[in-house]
Amino acid sequence: MAKPVIFSGIQPTGNLHIGNYLGAVKNWVELQNSGQYDCYFFIADYHSLTGQDSADERRTKIQTLAAELVALGIDPESTTFFVQSHVAEHTELAWIFNSITPIAELQRMTQFKDKSVQQEKNINAGLLTYPILQAADVLLYRPALIPVGKDQEQHLELTNDIVRLFNKRYGEYFQMIKPIFTELPRVMSLLEPSKKMSKSLGAGHVIELCEEPTQIETKLKKAVTATEGGGQAPGAANLLLLLKQFGSAEAYNTFAKSEKDGTIRYGDLKQELTRSIGDYFRDFRARRAELLANPKQLHGILETGARKAQKVAAATMQTVRQLVGIR
Ligand code: ADP
Repeated sequence: MAKPVIFSGIQPTGNLHIGNYLGAVKNWVELQNSGQYDCYFFIADYHSLTGQDSADERRTKIQTLAAELVALGIDPESTTFFVQSHVAEHTELAWIFNSITPIAELQRMTQFKDKSVQQEKNINAGLLTYPILQAADVLLYRPALIPVGKDQEQHLELTNDIVRLFNKRYGEYFQMIKPIFTELPRVMSLLEPSKKMSKSLGAGHVIELCEEPTQIETKLKKAVTATEGGGQAPGAANLLLLLKQFGSAEAYNTFAKSEKDGTIRYGDLKQELTRSIGDYFRDFRARRAELLANPKQLHGILETGARKAQKVAAATMQTVRQLVGIR
């Protein structure tokens, strides 16, 4: 029997940070390695066009992200790993969905509202129709399950609305999709631990996976720990969460206990954490550098992935063209 298809993507927005890792990529690798699914993971470069990067920045970020995902364990053999724009069917299906989606549905998306504030000088139509391209990304591969964060829930509901609209107008073809909301750690900013760790806050707020221990140490030294008032400070809780993920159980238990009884020395915790994160990603850093030094190999990986993805996407599009009456 065919395995259930799992599908997920990520935008090329710069070096991955430990929030992206714990909140997304680590889970992808686990799903892939469980052997229970037919996995599709892709780099959403068309989506990144709605942002502000220059062409050169975008090109570099796509390459780097591809190297980082492979270095983290995405296996191009067992998984279909590809770049969105290498499979032209994504935009073709998006156009067909554009023509059945009510504008009002798009205007109420919270991500559109947020982005319109963040980049008020560049409120392009792509920001509005973004969830339509997302629906096309997903439905081309007719997956059953989508591992996502809660922030994407609204877009997935829209995808299912598009399924309903399409099937009603052109005949039953697409199936509803089910999000899998796995409980994943939410990593907070080092400098403002009340906010989610995000590149958009600035370099000092995040730890990138490729950073050397000396860089990690500098950043952790500035990390906020204590706050006024009693109780566990969010900054301290965040560092302990990271130690739990990246350090030994013994180190975690020791620091968690000393934090509880008020004897904790944050300098020591930060040192232990620097060591733990540095060690955890040591192989990753080497593998990443190797891949980036060998663009031909990376190119080959992405080309093979695109070919695998396109086979499936082309079959879907053939049926869709028939159904809508353009073939
Ligand atoms: P950023 O906010 O740094 O630009 P993205 O929005 O591109 O990151 O997120 C890519 C993936 O990483 C998404 O699946 C998102 O849920 C996850 N992610 C991003 N930041 C965090 C975080 N601080 N903690 C947990 N998961 C995160």
